[in-house]
Amino acid sequence: MQLYKNQSLRVHNSLSGKKEFFQPINEGHIGMYVCGPTVYSNVHLGNCRTFMSFDMIFRYFKHLGFKVRYVRNITDAGHLENDADEGEDKIAKKAKLEQIEPMEVVQRYTVDFHETLQKFNFLSPSIEPTATGHIIEQIEIIKEILEKGFAYEINGSVYFDVIKFNEENEYGKLSGRKLEDMIANTRQLTAQDEKRNPQDFALWKKAEAQHIMRWPSPWGDGFPGWHLECTAMSTKYLGETFDIHGGGMDLKFPHHECEIAQAEASKGKSPVKYWLHANMLTLNGKKMSKSTGNNIYPAEIMSGENDILSKAYAPSVVRFFMMQAHYTSILDLSDDALLASEKGYHRLMDGLKNLESITTEATSNFDIPAWRQKCYDAMNDDFNTPILIAHLFDAVKHINLIKEGKETISQEDKTLLQNTMDNFVFDILGLENQAASKNDSSAMNGVMDLVIDLRNQARANKDFATSDKIRDELTALGIQLKDGKDGTTFSIN
Ligand code: AMP
Ligand code: ZN
Repeated sequence: MQLYKNQSLRVHNSLSGKKEFFQPINEGHIGMYVCGPTVYSNVHLGNCRTFMSFDMIFRYFKHLGFKVRYVRNITDAGHLENDADEGEDKIAKKAKLEQIEPMEVVQRYTVDFHETLQKFNFLSPSIEPTATGHIIEQIEIIKEILEKGFAYEINGSVYFDVIKFNEENEYGKLSGRKLEDMIANTRQLTAQDEKRNPQDFALWKKAEAQHIMRWPSPWGDGFPGWHLECTAMSTKYLGETFDIHGGGMDLKFPHHECEIAQAEASKGKSPVKYWLHANMLTLNGKKMSKSTGNNIYPAEIMSGENDILSKAYAPSVVRFFMMQAHYTSILDLSDDALLASEKGYHRLMDGLKNLESITTEATSNFDIPAWRQKCYDAMNDDFNTPILIAHLFDAVKHINLIKEGKETISQEDKTLLQNTMDNFVFDILGLENQAASKNDSSAMNGVMDLVIDLRNQARANKDFATSDKIRDELTALGIQLKDGKDGTTFSIN
């Protein structure tokens, strides 16, 4: 099935700042690289939003019939504190703090990342390479950049020479910055600095004696720069020029700007046809971030164990909440917004249930083929999921009218409507029907009301052994209780 032949897709390319018609380099094939997590702590919901945006994009491309090679890396070395060239490696720092091996840190948080994504029903990428698995490739690129004269070695470290590069190329074209302005706005180097200019960035850093994560290289023992790993892994698996490079907006500069510079310096060509950037999830109006602590973790959303939440939310409700915003818009997380999304999600799932049972007539009032094309048009317009969802609700409105006998639908249209709803709701938005099987089951609700009553009675009688036993055994079954001001609620993980 090659649906893409009938659809013309436009994507917002950060490099041109415009929506452009999407034309892959090799017809029918798409190469997409997305910067993965730095695995030194649990992913927060902001990280999940960016990955979810690209999961939706991956799903849509696959649905259209493209053969997609989707590469999303794991950063397990080289990412220093504050995204700068000085300071400790984030993973090595955590390893020291917890008195474990860096690779134990990597393993723990890679597992957490995968488990979290699985709960949100992510598809696996085609390749998930690690930075430490590609040290040789990174060293080879450094050699090429040195040979071309765009880097210099000093005291066992190698730095990219931004000023030299900018003489023949344009450093700053992705982020819209001018090198002159950057120079004017940056502090001068001190005598201790190794770099020729503050804008230069590390391709290879010498490992000091206490640095655990180290590899031999032509410049001595050291470790690669963070920007370099993505250039090495994307080039290896997708080629010197590939279709799509994605990541969060905050990676545009310096990370992606440096990736472009490294690729142009080593290969002499632009590495990426379309740069796609996903916007930030905010909390209290500020970017969710690991370092400031202004964040919320997926496990907290699913258990309701966070002061800003009145209850727990099913993963598909969170996914629906994310999909109600365009991936390039800022989205603010709040309990009210999640409650509204939960309502919307249930309305959609109820609509799907009603669709199964509606009876058919000879004709339809509702033009399903035209409606279906509107759904594609929304997705073809830079993956406009909020508009798509508005069309899905339009269909739900008609389904309900048909159920009430106020409108009609033919069998042929009903089948088309069912297939289209399934495609968009489950395959493309990646939602699961967690309403029928879990929180919404009335028998389950009845049983839980009873159990919560028994626990409340035990607590009123000061029989804490029994009340704790009920809570603990429910937790072991994956059912979380949350005591709030309006009583006790439950959620199922
Ligand atoms: P990191 O592990 O810090 O390298 O981040 C992994 C991904 O999460 C990157 O693509 C970031 O751009 C993205 N990211 C970080 N914070 C947020 C946020 N608040 N909202 C959306 N994406 C984010
Ligand atoms: Zn990257």
